Amino acid sequence: MPLKKEKPVPPKKITKPVVEKVVEKKEKDEEEGGKSSKTFELLRGFRDILPEEQGRWNLVRDTVRSIAESYSFDRIDLPILERSDLFQKTVGKATDIVEKEMYVFTDPSNRSVALRPEATASAARAYISHGMLDRPQPVKMWYVGPMFRHDRPQAGRYRQFYQAGFESFGVDEPIVDAQLIVLGAQIFRELGLDIKVEINSIGTPECRQAYLAELTSYFRPHRNKLSEDDKRRLQKNPLRILDSKEEATLELLQGAPQILDWLDDKSKEHFMKVLEFLEEVEIPYVLNPHLVRGLDYYTHTVFEFVLAQDEGDKSQSALGGGGRYDGLIQLLGGRPTPGCGFALGLERIVRALDAKGVNPPERSKPSVFFAQLGDAARRVGLKLFEEFRRAGVPVVEAFGKSALKGQLESANKLGVQLTLILGQKEVLDGTIIIRDMESGAQEIVDVKKVVQIVKKKLHKEPAPAEAPVSE
Ligand code: AMP
Repeated sequence: MPLKKEKPVPPKKITKPVVEKVVEKKEKDEEEGGKSSKTFELLRGFRDILPEEQGRWNLVRDTVRSIAESYSFDRIDLPILERSDLFQKTVGKATDIVEKEMYVFTDPSNRSVALRPEATASAARAYISHGMLDRPQPVKMWYVGPMFRHDRPQAGRYRQFYQAGFESFGVDEPIVDAQLIVLGAQIFRELGLDIKVEINSIGTPECRQAYLAELTSYFRPHRNKLSEDDKRRLQKNPLRILDSKEEATLELLQGAPQILDWLDDKSKEHFMKVLEFLEEVEIPYVLNPHLVRGLDYYTHTVFEFVLAQDEGDKSQSALGGGGRYDGLIQLLGGRPTPGCGFALGLERIVRALDAKGVNPPERSKPSVFFAQLGDAARRVGLKLFEEFRRAGVPVVEAFGKSALKGQLESANKLGVQLTLILGQKEVLDGTIIIRDMESGAQEIVDVKKVVQIVKKKLHKEPAPAEAPVSE
């Protein structure tokens, strides 16, 4: 018989104050999407786009598609999951996206993969893997889809967000940069959003080298005024210090050397031409010498579309951005091929439309309601519904309701023009009642002819206004 062991005395726990514990649990729960609660909640930074928001989303998606087509961009759908080194190599190891924000994990085949944080690198990969260099250049492609960045969520900043992007590969002419900017501006114009174009040039990697040496030596004596983040930027990726939001850095930046003064002649000429083209088509722009964009692959022109009136949170007012990336294809092992493109943030655009009170209906309002009484009527109704659908007349029904009163109430709420009523008697007689919802007038018609009759009623021209009586 085993000896009875003495129970060890647990070490005394240091208990945290209750409030602190509750706050910690809430934050942990939020991070884990309410794992410990009974209901499943969304992961932090993720959201549902609800039916009532779809009108605005459709407006944005449809505008993007129609503009893309009118500028001869071809749609491409790219995978959401890619090898993680695709982004490490192109976006850059010392960028926020790769350093802190990428969803990277090992897949069941033991490969390191990432949820795409952006899609330009994927488009470049597709260009190489499908031999698009052999197609007539430029190859112009557009896409729309979700991107993933594990950033700190806030209004207008999510961990899953949608981008629509435009990429043009194969031509290094400044007119390509300019036309992409025109295309973007056109999307905003059609959506009725007032934006400004901010623009800069970061030249070639060679001329940037000399500039970065100068920038670093300018900041060196002021190192102790910089935040830890900016100190790190200065050391690892000094160009990024230009888009710092820290007050102390912003003050120092006023006297900092500007990249435009360090551009070689070719880069300067390229940039001047882009600006001339924009002036030609009267796209107003603002030179922003601090605009560098957060990704390593950019060369020459960089630009952003910024909401014009948004004086509030500047960091959320960028609705899109992009630039030229002449070294990208080569970086991925392809033959040297220039390229230029940009991406729009759809949540931010939808938010701007919301702020303006724009919310078109999700789909066109149906004009006909079908009300039924009894099982036989439901059976006929199901068939009739299909006949109307095939004839292109949208009909709403409430097959789940049985009382006529409730169904007519639904019809009223929907504001339909006509309600079709089918009861036991009508089924036996092969008829159906058409009720004009405005006048309340009812008419019994042959059920076989109802689709044609309804079509005619809906398309009837409004009665001509009475001629004025001359005095
Ligand atoms: P970027 O290339 O990172 O500048 O992204 C292009 C556009 O996508 C930005 O101008 C934003 O409108 C949008 N965007 C970027 N990150 C986020 C995010 N975390 N949440 C929502 N929209 C974003």
